[in-house]
Amino acid sequence: MPFLFFFVSLQRMNLSQESLKAARELLCGAPLRVVVVSHTNPDGDAIGSSLALREALTAHGHSVTCIVPNRYPYYLDWIPNIQHLLIFKSDHDKAVEAVNNAEVIICADMSNLSRLDELGDVIAANATAKRVLVDHHLSPDPSFDVMFSHPESSSTAFLAYSIIAELFGKEAVTATVAEQLYVGMMTDTGNFSFSFLTPELFRAVADLSATGINIPQIYNNVYNSFTESRARLFGYVINRKMKTLHKGTVAYMSLTEEEMRRFWFQQGDSEGFVNYPLTIKKMKMSAIFIEHHDFIRVSLRSRGNVDVDEFARRYFNGGGHKNAAGGKSFVTMEETIAHYIASVKEFVEEGSLSKKD
Ligand code: 5GP
Ligand code: MN
Repeated sequence: MPFLFFFVSLQRMNLSQESLKAARELLCGAPLRVVVVSHTNPDGDAIGSSLALREALTAHGHSVTCIVPNRYPYYLDWIPNIQHLLIFKSDHDKAVEAVNNAEVIICADMSNLSRLDELGDVIAANATAKRVLVDHHLSPDPSFDVMFSHPESSSTAFLAYSIIAELFGKEAVTATVAEQLYVGMMTDTGNFSFSFLTPELFRAVADLSATGINIPQIYNNVYNSFTESRARLFGYVINRKMKTLHKGTVAYMSLTEEEMRRFWFQQGDSEGFVNYPLTIKKMKMSAIFIEHHDFIRVSLRSRGNVDVDEFARRYFNGGGHKNAAGGKSFVTMEETIAHYIASVKEFVEEGSLSKKD
């Protein structure tokens, strides 16, 4: 019986009636000044769901500003209305003004303000705005006024779709909104190949498709729009930098600033590299360490019951989802790799790598 209940509840995006009522009271009335923010190193889901929320809220009459902490990857440049997005690093004063004047702040595709770096401090300083969470990461900060926290949703875009349809009706999902949401759903599910692929998600995709969006073109815009140097960097990383541990079941790769310069690295060029070792049949877990100016960004991926959210939280001060997580390291690349190898050993010894699906 409990199993049946679990199965049935996965068939729909079950939004809490209490959260919906609170969201309706807040967002379906008089026009407000709204800010939508999303996480550092914004990806297709962060950008797609933020812009879709902006679109639907603007259509209702609100005045909406979308802000991300730093620049998005160049292959998202084509998304409709992305030119309205403020980048906190380069549009600092405008962004601060929008946050200070906001009556509502919506955090999309992030579970706490620490994912916003300095933008998080500016938001924390606005003590009067109502805070809304629209997110699918594990372990959300519980202090939001209205919470839509759904780790069982494959993307924030799917959650945003459900909220927009509930609050403003399916008519609010115009072709522009559909295109923005589809980018989020497609990228966070690895083009519909990861977990949490529910019938309800495909029904939502059917609704998006019915608006006339060009799905193959969206795929090409995102996945077939890289530079030649990015293709060569990918070959280099897999051939020269991928190392394996524990009889070829754990992989890691690293990229230094010098290597990135050599291949004319642009933000977003390393997207997807960390997934590639998992194309090897017996691989269970993969990591990539990317050197930044003052820290190393850690990205982790896994298969089945190997929980990299737990691994990231325990060893790299981060988190995310069970099969895709990240964190940061503040020591050298050599020390980061040594720490990873020792942490994987501990993880393996306690049986966390051999958990059955
Ligand atoms: P990516 O490897 O693509 O940067 O991140 C994978 C997932 O982990 C994403 O859902 C991302 O939001 C989450 N994530 C990445 N870095 C961090 C981090 O430092 N802290 C937390 N809590 N989540 C992270
Ligand atoms: Mn996401």
